[in-house]
Amino acid sequence: MVENSGLPALLDALRAEAPGARLLTDPLDRESYRRDETAYLSAGLPGAVVLPADTAEVATILRLASMHRVPVVPRGAGTGLSGGAAGIEGALTIVLTRLDRVLEIDADNLCVVTQPGVINADLKAAVAREGLFYPPDPASYETCSIGGNLGTNAGGLCCVKYGQTRDWVLGLEVVLADGTVIRTGGKTVKDTAGYSLTHLFVGSQGTLGIITEATLRLRPLPGPRATLLAFFASLGAAGDAVAAMTRAGIVPVTLELLDHETILAVDDAHQLGLDRDAAAMLLVESDAPGAAAPAELDAAEAAINAAGATSIVRAADATEADWLRQARRLALRALERKGTVRMEDVGVPRSRVPELLAGIERITAAHGVRCATFGHAGDGNLHPNLIFDRDDPAAERLTEVVRDEIFRVALDLGGTVTAEHGIGSARREWLPVQVGEGAVAAMRAIKGALDPLGILNPGRVLQELGQDLG
Ligand SMILES: Cc1cc2nc3c(=O)[nH]c(=O)nc-3n(C[C@H](O)[C@H](O)[C@H](O)COP(=O)(O)OP(=O)(O)OC[C@H]3O[C@@H](n4cnc5c(N)ncnc54)[C@H](O)[C@@H]3O)c2cc1C
Repeated sequence: MVENSGLPALLDALRAEAPGARLLTDPLDRESYRRDETAYLSAGLPGAVVLPADTAEVATILRLASMHRVPVVPRGAGTGLSGGAAGIEGALTIVLTRLDRVLEIDADNLCVVTQPGVINADLKAAVAREGLFYPPDPASYETCSIGGNLGTNAGGLCCVKYGQTRDWVLGLEVVLADGTVIRTGGKTVKDTAGYSLTHLFVGSQGTLGIITEATLRLRPLPGPRATLLAFFASLGAAGDAVAAMTRAGIVPVTLELLDHETILAVDDAHQLGLDRDAAAMLLVESDAPGAAAPAELDAAEAAINAAGATSIVRAADATEADWLRQARRLALRALERKGTVRMEDVGVPRSRVPELLAGIERITAAHGVRCATFGHAGDGNLHPNLIFDRDDPAAERLTEVVRDEIFRVALDLGGTVTAEHGIGSARREWLPVQVGEGAVAAMRAIKGALDPLGILNPGRVLQELGQDLG
């Protein structure tokens, strides 16, 4: 494990060699960088926090951190749900939010060059002003950064049609652990020169390098969406509707599921007039051009009716649709009013969604644990949210047991323990279970080649050798 006894010397060197980088050493300032959005994980207090303003400063910081053997935690906006940006006791947290410029919108090549600190919603708005569209759309899009989206390979509400962040990345500028700056890819749409380092860095959660610039693909801006809500008397029927739509080849831009607990929490928070008796709800949207959008919803409606929906309503206009989508985006915040939320992120092949839903229901009922499930059902990606009282250690421990059983069900269905939030520090022990020791060894070899001193986000994604996860 990397020692951090070199921190005082590193801070002196940073003051001398990177005087423009903002350095926070006051304990209260550092405290606000202890956690990401995983309230239930224990996290360390950073020894110092540094906010560089450009690539050169990031390179200097990493060169000096390597020289003084001080571990670093790359951090964007801190909205992550896997503990990837949470503090490590005594380490240096490097916050990328000051690299916040959209550098170029290239309409001729349908791409945008951006720094990592730009907020996802701001990037979307900037390219929309040019009639262009950047699809990746995490529910946190108004607060999370592009760097964090790249770090986690973020998903969101339109992956069913447009895929995850990785599908939209053409090239990167990355600072390696020793301060070397490299470029991968570029504006070309096709590129097979060497290994795809671009795809390797995306989703690596700050363990292989720090992304300081990205070239992202764009599309022409689609027209207004058509939006439908469907309510069901059972979770199983909603799961059947999702499977039926997939089987029928219907690819809506959004296909989200909310269970009964989530419907109540969202309706309590936003007074939307949802069907509070429903066991489940689907939010289905089409952004197909012109008349193709209502036609796509007609096809979805047929599949939904066949699965036994109790009622179906369509949004009257774009404002109402925005309102419903925003309420879905705020589902986690609505649930947080009910207690501490441990949000999980399992994914299965889409046809297995009904079995995953049944498994989650069975396990949480057997343990008497309160659970609200919502998520990107169209991608086979569900978020079971285990709600508990943090003052009750037994209840907190029980969420661990329930989580493990849900992970086992997801893997038995051919799925994953994390579809979009990442392994981070929250799910490390499950990585070898899912991918196998051989794949973990290959990942360790890559980590060892790119970060031989192990200073980059140590213990995240890959458990450090000899590390006690206690
Ligand atoms: C209410 C809510 C809703 C959410 N909805 C979704 C959703 O729908 N889909 C989804 O995928 N996620 C969702 N998330 C999780 C989170 O917003 C995403 O994981 C997001 O991508 C994190 O971005 P961030 O800027 O906050 O990154 P951080 O949390 O700061 O960092 C995330 C990871 O990326 C690394 N990192 C950050 N910047 C860089 C960089 N420049 N170079 C290299 N590594 C870097 C960090 O080390 C860390 O491992 C949600 C979170 C909340 C709170």
